[in-house]
Amino acid sequence: MSATEFWRERLHNNVGQYFSVEERIYTEKTEHQDIIIFKNAAFGRVMALDGVVQTTEGDEFIYHEMMTHVPLLAHGKTKNVLIIGGGDGGMLREVCRHKQIDKITMVEIDTKVVELCKKYLPNHSAGAYNDRRFKLVIDDGTDFVQNTVEKFDVIISDCTDPVGPGSSLFTSEFYKGCERCLNDDGIFVAQNGVCFLQEEEVINSDKRLKELFTDVGFYQAAIPSYYGGVMTFAWASNNSALHQLDLTTLQQRFATANLEKCRYYNPTIHISSFALPQYLLDTLSPK
Ligand code: SAM
Repeated sequence: MSATEFWRERLHNNVGQYFSVEERIYTEKTEHQDIIIFKNAAFGRVMALDGVVQTTEGDEFIYHEMMTHVPLLAHGKTKNVLIIGGGDGGMLREVCRHKQIDKITMVEIDTKVVELCKKYLPNHSAGAYNDRRFKLVIDDGTDFVQNTVEKFDVIISDCTDPVGPGSSLFTSEFYKGCERCLNDDGIFVAQNGVCFLQEEEVINSDKRLKELFTDVGFYQAAIPSYYGGVMTFAWASNNSALHQLDLTTLQQRFATANLEKCRYYNPTIHISSFALPQYLLDTLSPK
């Protein structure tokens, strides 16, 4: 039995996590980032970009269900969805489960991530790339939202952390672009890091989004492979009622959407996910 190899995540300098590598599957330096895909005994296949865990077969469902069904069921009449990033295909798979949607556009900067995840993480997209409503655009998300003539009901920023190509997706320019291409009553959500260790990310997003939207907040879920505690998701819209729906309404919409097998999302968790730890509330509105 060969000595177990370990892969160390490089997101943080002074804390972090190791994954045993049961099988090295693929590595490449693409035009934009270093990609590695390996098999880990606890999480199954893991994909990391520039030394940061992006997604694992074991727990991706939590992240992808919460970043899609929360805004889509809150909106209630989504016809046109924009995904920024999302190269592993899991976000697209969950969006496609909403049959009332007419169009889904995904703007991903690195075509190799799409290709490699289709091949090595097939259960993430699970055939969603063949959905007739889907269009893939290979571009920088910020350039796209600043120039598109299209308007969207929900925009989901499923990007890497604000390092490397992902850094532009945490800027005021990007948020301004999203605001300009959202329809009235549109909703913007974005992965916003693990707030206990990436406090700056939440503070900056909160400040920048509040300059553009009247209703800005966060919701949260714990994703085991995102080290350090709960991950926050940024929420921005100009209609505060959209994140204050009652349980009965959400239960009705959830039943009508007939999403089949959700393994994390349910209407009660939808509502409770907007409850934030006091330390985060204190960080966002210091006394
Ligand atoms: N779940 C992950 C997380 O929370 O960090 C995100 C996963 S997804 C693989 C991140 C995607 O964002 C990658 O495919 C990456 O290529 C893409 N990306 C990074 N910067 C981008 C940009 N400026 N425009 C579009 N896509 C970008």
